[in-house]
Amino acid sequence: MTPPVTRIAPSPTGFMHIGTARTALFNWLYARGRGGRFLLRIEDTDAARATPGAVEAILDGLTWLGLDWDGDPVFQSENAARHAQVVGQLLASGHAYRCTCTPARLAALPHGYDRQCRDAGHGPDCGPHVVRIKAPLAGEIVLDDQVQGRVVVAAKDLDDFVLLRSDGTPTYMLCVVVDDHDMGVTHVIRGDDHLSNALRQRTITDAMGWPVPVYAHIPLIHGADGKKLSKRHGAVGVAWYREQGYLPEAVCNYLLRLGWGHGDAEVISRAEALEWFDLPAVGRAPARLDEAKLDALNAHYIAEADDARLLDILGIDDARFLAALPLLKPRARTLAELREAGAFLLAPVEPDDAAREKLTGAGDALAALAQALQEAEPFDAAGVKAAVKAVADARGVKMGAVGPVLRAALTGRTGGPDIFASAAILGRDECLERLKGVQKP
Ligand code: GLU
Repeated sequence: MTPPVTRIAPSPTGFMHIGTARTALFNWLYARGRGGRFLLRIEDTDAARATPGAVEAILDGLTWLGLDWDGDPVFQSENAARHAQVVGQLLASGHAYRCTCTPARLAALPHGYDRQCRDAGHGPDCGPHVVRIKAPLAGEIVLDDQVQGRVVVAAKDLDDFVLLRSDGTPTYMLCVVVDDHDMGVTHVIRGDDHLSNALRQRTITDAMGWPVPVYAHIPLIHGADGKKLSKRHGAVGVAWYREQGYLPEAVCNYLLRLGWGHGDAEVISRAEALEWFDLPAVGRAPARLDEAKLDALNAHYIAEADDARLLDILGIDDARFLAALPLLKPRARTLAELREAGAFLLAPVEPDDAAREKLTGAGDALAALAQALQEAEPFDAAGVKAAVKAVADARGVKMGAVGPVLRAALTGRTGGPDIFASAAILGRDECLERLKGVQKP
């Protein structure tokens, strides 16, 4: 078997849709898991929709997700001459025809185009015209889809759709088929909103005598409410996930599990995904966003992530934060939580209400803690713990009455990572400084 060639063909709309990201992931996995190639085509023919920076949004999104493409991206608009050439071939071979029907006439037709010009034999000098495909009039068009199964449509239900507009620009329907063929695409894996297009595109492929690619139309992603994903759901763009502090490997794992599964596996490494991913296991029902699942996966990948890499992503260059990462990582669901949980390491944090309550009237305990920490030896987690224990014993109270006071003084919070280890990381001088700071009226 020759290795597959897959592609994604996003339109540059200004951001990268999470559905596009999942389609890219499936295409990437399918190709790379089989020694094949994954291509990128920017469908920029609809110039009115293209916005500046839109291409960058796609390239950045793919790069962030670690989905590298082979060769340079193909820009569909650059293939205009080739599209026109194919239309010429289809006209010459009798698979397409010029149609001079006016927009007004077309608008008045009750059931779509009535094929009035199909056998009129209009030549190039027929005046303003579009070029239409001569779709078969009888029989069936069959598509064996890897996800949807066998899809059959009666030829009479397909129209003679437009290939070339009256201004000479090619339509999406034509461009996709020509570009996929010219790029050597063997597998078209895309959203199932394109399923009916595939049946039309098949007419062009057959008319050109080109090999028919394998099709796999994957269900779209819906919101947690089961409704079609829209801006209202918030989490629509890849950039949002990045900004919210999700790691790319968590997002990939999550997207992979949306609509595809391998037994009970939830945490799936990229190597496993490459080995396991296949099209028939993609479900036919729309997948739903599930933030709890994403958070759980992100927590897993944060806990596993390399410390230096995390600091780099957070843009933090701090020895204490680095030293505290083993304490912080297992507790964070997102990078934002990680940053928040470790903020006290970078600078004193204004106590929140709960912490302030712990500090109220705790002057004696704070003074005793300061004294104990002054003398603690060595100043490591165990040494700090022993010192705090001695303070509790001397005051005839439990550790639970003193530890939270220390935590409130050092971190400004009532919860967080192990306070003795945290104190050790802050260091003796900083701890004493902070204990003094909260004792001031
Ligand atoms: N440009 C199309 C889109 O963004 C994709 C076409 C295709 O994958 O065939 O929906």
